[in-house]
Amino acid sequence: MIAALSTRGTSTGGPKEAPPPYRLVSMEGKASRSTVWVSGVPFGPGAVTLVAGPCSVETPEQTLQAAMMAQAGGATLLRGGAFKPRSSPYSFHGLGEQGLKILAEVRAVTGLPIVTEVLDASDLDLVSSYADMLQVGTRNAQNVALLRAVGRAGLPVLLKRGMGCTVEEWLLAAEFIAHHGNERIVLCERGIRTFESATRCTLDISAVPLAQSLSRLPVVVDPSHSCGKRELVLPLTRAAIAAGADGVMVDVHPDPESALCDGRQALTGDDLTELATSVSRLAAATGRVVTRPRPREEHRVAG
Ligand code: PEP
Ligand code: MN
Repeated sequence: MIAALSTRGTSTGGPKEAPPPYRLVSMEGKASRSTVWVSGVPFGPGAVTLVAGPCSVETPEQTLQAAMMAQAGGATLLRGGAFKPRSSPYSFHGLGEQGLKILAEVRAVTGLPIVTEVLDASDLDLVSSYADMLQVGTRNAQNVALLRAVGRAGLPVLLKRGMGCTVEEWLLAAEFIAHHGNERIVLCERGIRTFESATRCTLDISAVPLAQSLSRLPVVVDPSHSCGKRELVLPLTRAAIAAGADGVMVDVHPDPESALCDGRQALTGDDLTELATSVSRLAAATGRVVTRPRPREEHRVAG
């Protein structure tokens, strides 16, 4: 290779890695990994944060029940989709703004801040007016227009890994958001497509410590969407926390059999209690503490 064109090599002759292409979110030159705060809830080193809720907002009653299950299980952030990306045009696609209103009402009752997906840049103002944190889903992980828009939105972002993305592509997606003004990003490993068809996707556990060493951003795991099977969510959660994940996000539903979306992977209240016990033990075993609920007066007023 012509020396002048090489990105490697130093004047002292030793090999040197080229700087990573994701400059803002990189760990290079940073003393420690970042903590991202979401309406008083931390994601980052030293803490293990549990996020739970229904895959989709279906009715006010179902969402409130799921949120109360999440809260009783120790979750400090409520997940729930109002705009649902589905693989089929004939599936339930969410309640839209009505779903966001239900989430805001449930937040007012439980005090749990909300993470909810934004599917399209044209919905961003609407979703931002209700959400505490914006979720970018796996199908949109390389939607540059959306990444730019959430970069400008000013709310923290949960960025799912694209199911076909390398870790570098995932970090570059985060870099798009950071480059457009928003460094409050939490990475979420949610499984990748492999030849295995017995699970929905294959949870890439190695991506957790890898992304934590390459980037300063917190990394959480969504075991529910990784495997698609309720009985695998607990063991995958254990693996995630043992590998150092800064939190997990799981689906819960008061009646999984009747769920309009992803019932097969939804936990019941008892499942979540068992999972929370495991999370506490493994957090302690890895020198961390589980994020506790905040005092009620710190809760954000419903938007
Ligand atoms: C979700 O969390 O509701 C979701 C659709 O996840 P993913 O984008 O990872 O499939
Ligand atoms: Mn889902």
